[in-house]
Amino acid sequence: MAIRFLKQDQLPAFLGQLAEKARVVAPVKTDGVVQFQPWVSGQDVELDVLLAKQSPKEYVFLQTETYLKFGYEMVKPEAAGGDTAAEEADPVSVDDAAVEVAIPYETVTVEPQNEAPAQVIFGLRPCDARGFVQMDQVFGGYGGFYYDPLYNARREATTLLAVTCREPRSTCFCTAIGGGPAGEEGVDALFTQVDGGFVVEALTEKGEAALAAAGAALTDATDAQIAAAGEVKTAAGAKIDVPFALEGIRDNLHDNIADDRWHDQAMRCISCGTCTYVCPSCYCFSINDELVESTGERYRVWDNCFNPLYTEETSGHNPRAQKSNRFRNRFSHKFWYYPDKYDSLLCSGCGRCIMNCPTRIDIREIVRVMGAPAPAVAAGAASEAPAATGDAPAVAEGKEA
Ligand code: SF4
Ligand code: SF4
Repeated sequence: MAIRFLKQDQLPAFLGQLAEKARVVAPVKTDGVVQFQPWVSGQDVELDVLLAKQSPKEYVFLQTETYLKFGYEMVKPEAAGGDTAAEEADPVSVDDAAVEVAIPYETVTVEPQNEAPAQVIFGLRPCDARGFVQMDQVFGGYGGFYYDPLYNARREATTLLAVTCREPRSTCFCTAIGGGPAGEEGVDALFTQVDGGFVVEALTEKGEAALAAAGAALTDATDAQIAAAGEVKTAAGAKIDVPFALEGIRDNLHDNIADDRWHDQAMRCISCGTCTYVCPSCYCFSINDELVESTGERYRVWDNCFNPLYTEETSGHNPRAQKSNRFRNRFSHKFWYYPDKYDSLLCSGCGRCIMNCPTRIDIREIVRVMGAPAPAVAAGAASEAPAATGDAPAVAEGKEA
């Protein structure tokens, strides 16, 4: 596919043309906070701040989403075939069968909801796009698991136009886990900022279609512009910290499941759930019914695994009643349970959870400590003694969901 160029001053025209065919969502600064919002003509897109406060996942996996409406209705006896006229005239003479059908009964009407407007998300970063790919596996029926029609309809109707990160933050670690500032996973078209504008690469048919829809604002990129984009990508990649090596983390988390150090690590956590809400790949939700008289809605709403009630069962038993268990679950889910099931990680290294945690808990540190061999095992290895399996913490009876 041809590589294009979009002049900086043509960005509003480009988005305007896209907006004629689909909802455009872009990072916009409001009251000092950058958030993804439905874009309207005249609004400035904020690309100098590397990451919006929250990832754009809420435009595909909604914070609150009604997925069916329902209503109860009492059916009158005559609709069921009862002879109500005879009963009213002479209640005593009505036979047993007529009395039986005269009892009113209740019906339930159900109206499924599934709106999936065409939309283009512009200005997300490659780590945000990768987050969608990770959620796709969960909601997309990977390996025969549940296929979610709401999520998939929205995902199908969404085009992701990502922008290469030029100035990664100190909290970024995408390169440590297989991504990068110009990562292409999940990206439909990649925009790289160079002098005077963006070098634009369509990576999928959806991306190509979006660029065709806004073609008037694009020209062919020159060799010099393409080379400049390559330099931006290389330079950005070199700026990103690599805080840990992935190898062995999954096995070490498994071996450390009953390690007391989880308590120490969890001490500062206040179970606020912020890290899960800002994360581009956390997908937990709960389902609720809301009923007013005889009509209601069933909706799902984001939940988070730090919530003390998150795993409470109807019996009252809570398998993760302790904070340290919930804390352990989040990191083990991302680097052990999910990889076991989907053969990839549930983290894209965006660093939002680090930036936004009110008590400065750092996922890189947790993975470095709890994803390393247990101290007794490490000491045994260092002295070249046989593996000190007897001293290693006992593995609890299996991972949590
Ligand atoms: S766990 Fe943290 S670093 Fe990883 S994707 Fe989620 S918010 Fe980003
Ligand atoms: S943001 Fe920090 S304090 Fe809040 S639940 Fe996450 S780790 Fe705990």
